[in-house]
Amino acid sequence: MSDELTTETLATLREQAIANRKIVVPRELALALVELAERSPELQPPPRGKRWCPDCGAARPCSDFYRARHRASGVQGYCKQHMNERTERSRAWRRAAEGGGR
Ligand SMILES: [Zn+2]
Repeated sequence: MSDELTTETLATLREQAIANRKIVVPRELALALVELAERSPELQPPPRGKRWCPDCGAARPCSDFYRARHRASGVQGYCKQHMNERTERSRAWRRAAEGGGR
């Protein structure tokens, strides 16, 4: 028996992974993913008292975010400035869609 990966061994590994509800990835891939996560600021937990705004591409103080009780985090996903910009943009789209018929 050789240790070579065959379609059969892969199928067995896959079945085991499914049975264990685990995803088996090669070590190199796992390390690459960890490295990528470490280099991506948006995947880092924001510093204390700060939150990540995807539009800013930076962490901003919590006071720069509107409250949102329905959200698990308690605040909006974007800072006030970008929240306003997004609201304005969607309003403009709706206006264009409604009034731009002819
Ligand atoms: Zn922002």
